[in-house]
Amino acid sequence: MLHRVHEAPLLPEDAMLLKGVLAGERRALAKAITLIESSRADHRSRANALLKALLPHTGHSIRLGISGVPGVGKSTFIEALGIWLVEQGARLAVLAVDPSSSISGGSILGDKTRMELLAAREEAFIRPSPSAGSLGGVAEKTREAMLLAEAAGFNVVVVETVGVGQSETTVAGMVDMFILLQLPNAGDDLQAIKKGIVEVADCILINKADINPQAAAFACAQWKNALKMLRTASPHWLPPVLTVSAAQKEGLDIFWKEVLRFKCTLEASGEFQAKRKAQAVRWMWNLIDAGLRQQFDEHPLVKAELPGLSNSVENGKISPTAAAGQLLSYMQHV
Ligand code: GDP
Repeated sequence: MLHRVHEAPLLPEDAMLLKGVLAGERRALAKAITLIESSRADHRSRANALLKALLPHTGHSIRLGISGVPGVGKSTFIEALGIWLVEQGARLAVLAVDPSSSISGGSILGDKTRMELLAAREEAFIRPSPSAGSLGGVAEKTREAMLLAEAAGFNVVVVETVGVGQSETTVAGMVDMFILLQLPNAGDDLQAIKKGIVEVADCILINKADINPQAAAFACAQWKNALKMLRTASPHWLPPVLTVSAAQKEGLDIFWKEVLRFKCTLEASGEFQAKRKAQAVRWMWNLIDAGLRQQFDEHPLVKAELPGLSNSVENGKISPTAAAGQLLSYMQHV
């Protein structure tokens, strides 16, 4: 027999929040994101009801992921690009996935003092990374925040992440176009290639070209060569490599033309829509995996038996397979 999950109706205060988000109010959007970031069970069900009501209003933005090692110039670039875009009538939301903030409580991507000029603009919305939870948890909240920002009428959403750990692939899995910022020296290139990040990159920007334009042009040529040999994310799109200077606001227009060309090209081949659909289904599976794991961790029999069984595995008294089988079998006892 099928059981339907009970869906709570919107509380009156959340109906107000919904109205505020749909009217594009930044305060309402910030409050709604705080609600979805909460781990309290009652907040979670309110957040789900709110998300459901907002879902029909989502999807109308271009979603960009921007990554690069600390110091490469991500926030300088996003601020320059953001101001340039809002001056042309865009509304831009900047969200962050910072794995360091969930591990240490500190954050590589920094706090609200970043991008002050952009933050002051009514047409921009900047939200730091949620600081609680695993990378998966942080990414889940950021993806939901992205949907809320879209419902609030932000037509460009930038998800920023640091070039450390798994966060690039996680962010690449939630955006339309993934952009990698690099410095004009060869050392970084190898790192990015080794970690497989280049394979998810749709565009590579060599930043700080103002410092040494020749070195930047050389790095650009090297990257172009390397990309010819690597497997790229789409068969219809060879990731462009551009030199930019975030500090001097140079190359923003050329970059934006590439973003639009990317969207047009992938829309024409049907990949744009297919990618979003596949991302949504993958997202469902991520949530199922996380939910099953949580049910497992919270199961009273598992909680009671896990330490002993884990000890027995350590001491070779029981095989890992047998222990895992026994623990998983408890899930059938509700
Ligand atoms: P993030 O850690 O990747 O966000 O890097 P930031 O945006 O904080 O930039 C790190 C440093 O590089 C700052 O001192 C910036 O002023 C500087 N910077 C960023 N972009 C450029 C650029 O295009 N040219 C120059 N010369 N400096 C830059």
